[in-house]
Amino acid sequence: MHNAGPANLGGGCSMPPLKAFMDDTTIICSKEDETRRMLTRLDVLMSWCRMEFKPKKSRSLSIRKGKVDETMTFTVAKQQILTVSQEPVKSLGRWYDSSLKDTSRGAETLELASEILLAINKCGLQGKFKIWCLQFMLIPKLPWPLLVYDICPSTVEAIEAKINKSRRKWLGVPPGLSDVAMHCPKAKLKFALKSILEEYKCGKARLLTMLEESDDPVVKTVQPSLKTGRKWKITEAVDEAKECLKMKEVFDQTQTDRRGLGATTAKWWSKTEGKEKRDMIIDEIRNKEDSTRIQKAVQQPQQCQWTNWDTDIQRSLTWNDIWHMAPLRIRFLIRSVYDLLPSNANLVRWGKKDDPTCPLCQGRQTTEHVLSSCKVALSQGRYTWRHNRVLQELASVISTSKG
Ligand SMILES: [Zn+2]
Repeated sequence: MHNAGPANLGGGCSMPPLKAFMDDTTIICSKEDETRRMLTRLDVLMSWCRMEFKPKKSRSLSIRKGKVDETMTFTVAKQQILTVSQEPVKSLGRWYDSSLKDTSRGAETLELASEILLAINKCGLQGKFKIWCLQFMLIPKLPWPLLVYDICPSTVEAIEAKINKSRRKWLGVPPGLSDVAMHCPKAKLKFALKSILEEYKCGKARLLTMLEESDDPVVKTVQPSLKTGRKWKITEAVDEAKECLKMKEVFDQTQTDRRGLGATTAKWWSKTEGKEKRDMIIDEIRNKEDSTRIQKAVQQPQQCQWTNWDTDIQRSLTWNDIWHMAPLRIRFLIRSVYDLLPSNANLVRWGKKDDPTCPLCQGRQTTEHVLSSCKVALSQGRYTWRHNRVLQELASVISTSKG
């Protein structure tokens, strides 16, 4: 373009006035007459190619001294281009309006989530199928708006609270079951349920690191700032993750699981590049979220007794399990792990009963007592009976598979 110089973005940064992506064209100019000349020139070029612009689908936005100037209009193909103030526009999955702010987008996303939750709740499916709908229909819709708009974590927390409320209802567990139980990958009973807040934090961290390492000269000089509210600052979180990774390199890799020494290949922060580096940061942020959850779990002595169970093997509740289990069995499994079964001790704590004693042995009837340590139940052979039933079942399976 010989009739327009690069647009001055301020701070010593300038951008070529014309950007094109597929069939989209964006013109950025610092002067009004330059924009007009450019539009006329583009019009001529387009008519040479026997193509034409659609003014109805185009938008213009003029900013004067940091404020939107609604009176400024441009024309292309002899028609006026609508301004963003007249009609907002969606480009590459993101809405633009004259406020130039994302304040209302958070509320809109929250509303979208509530509407979908309500729709799922209304359908006549079993609880576990509703959970499936939630996981594979609602949750995949959320990360994109949470990533492209400046939405603060408190809105994301509100969305997560709504989702978890529905999850508890559909799983048939009491509202008291903590979020820790649902999202902590180190819990003894591991759910395949994603935490929206964690995905949001990881998405923002990935975006920030990508912008920081960008090769684009404009992105390099301007460094767009990501707003994530006052409570959780993305730049601080990423810096902290980086520091942690550097420290880990100094302290050397330590074995954290039961696999043999040297079975895991060590990744070094200083030796990785590009995407791998970003992945390490994301993993570190996920680790941080997990340790916060563990801290919360330790503060909930009743529900999270599992933090003290050293010898138990972790069980993960996969989609396959949920799919095949009867709803009551899922409920029993979750309630027994998190000590939410109506044993007498729990009924007393919930104010439903006065006496926590076991009707068989007069000891204190807790969940553990009922399931494995009541002396009378043991002497009457109740546990043996259950144990034998399991053996019987195994024997029958073996004999049928033999024959
Ligand atoms: Zn007893």
